[in-house]
Amino acid sequence: MSDDEPWNSNAQSSTTLDKSTLEAAYDAAMNAPAPAAAGGKQDFLEAEPYWDQSTIPVNTYKNKAPFTGKIVSTKRIVGPEATGETCDIVIGHEGKMPYWEGQSYGVIPPGTNPKNGKPNSVRLYSIASSRYGDDMTGTTTTLCVRRATYWCPELKADDPAKKGVCSNYLCDSKPGDDVKLTGPSGKVMLIPEKDPNVDLIMVATGTGIAPYRSFIRRLFVEKTPFGEAYTKGTGQAWLFLGVANSDALLYDDEWQEVLKKYPDNFRLDYALSRDQKNKD
Ligand SMILES: Cc1cc2nc3c(=O)[nH]c(=O)nc-3n(C[C@H](O)[C@H](O)[C@H](O)COP(=O)(O)OP(=O)(O)OC[C@H]3O[C@@H](n4cnc5c(N)ncnc54)[C@H](O)[C@@H]3O)c2cc1C
Repeated sequence: MSDDEPWNSNAQSSTTLDKSTLEAAYDAAMNAPAPAAAGGKQDFLEAEPYWDQSTIPVNTYKNKAPFTGKIVSTKRIVGPEATGETCDIVIGHEGKMPYWEGQSYGVIPPGTNPKNGKPNSVRLYSIASSRYGDDMTGTTTTLCVRRATYWCPELKADDPAKKGVCSNYLCDSKPGDDVKLTGPSGKVMLIPEKDPNVDLIMVATGTGIAPYRSFIRRLFVEKTPFGEAYTKGTGQAWLFLGVANSDALLYDDEWQEVLKKYPDNFRLDYALSRDQKNKD
């Protein structure tokens, strides 16, 4: 194995390492500062050149052999007056399930479907973090999940027997829980990065914000090569986010930070359907 290709597991190695050496190397790597913190730049997961989309990972893990990730955190991110509950869920993947901004993961909830007695089927969730993850180590993925509930007109209340299987499983998950993942999937919502002056119009309601959060982190929060080029250019990234009321706004603190730093490159408009008096 060549010294500069340690990731190439197909290469023949002429060196044998014992278990304790490997464990020591693993511990050193895990305790090292994240690459961004050490070098300032966030570039260890880039294609060459960074806009080349030909090496995007697709369907690394399939339904029959999913990856088992671990829940890192599950956090409610809406206020008390929001209509429904939305959670930000961070999942650890040990760097084994890389993805790009605009892709989705599949989640296979445990249990069986009572309608057919078969294991529950996969549900797709758009990825809300950049490829580096929110901790910028390249080992986590963030999902933004709305808990699906069923309002029963006869009961005039939520009917727990008809609640959504996977979204409730995810929103109830606890740090350390295992979660079966498939994917990443999707190649149609990638950022067109070749032109650093491109205008990006992003329109979302509710958890539809997820892929755009991954875009905005890549553009404005992390020092990625595309972000550096974009913030020096003339392109404008314009986010329209629709939610029911101000308590249901998602990641507003993050957008306000970006607005402060990049008023020329980022623009934000909200549509609050139940707060607005004027419906025109
Ligand atoms: C490409 C893609 C990306 C997505 N990204 C996201 C995302 O980022 N965030 C997100 O939250 N969602 C996302 N979704 C939606 C997600 O995949 C799931 O569909 C959603 O979470 C509901 O799944 P569930 O298992 O909770 O509900 P299910 O169990 O599949 O139930 C679906 C609905 O049926 C209702 N229901 C169940 N039983 C009955 C019954 N007997 N009678 C009447 N109604 C019933 C449930 O309450 C629920 O509202 C995405 C979907 C796609 C296709």
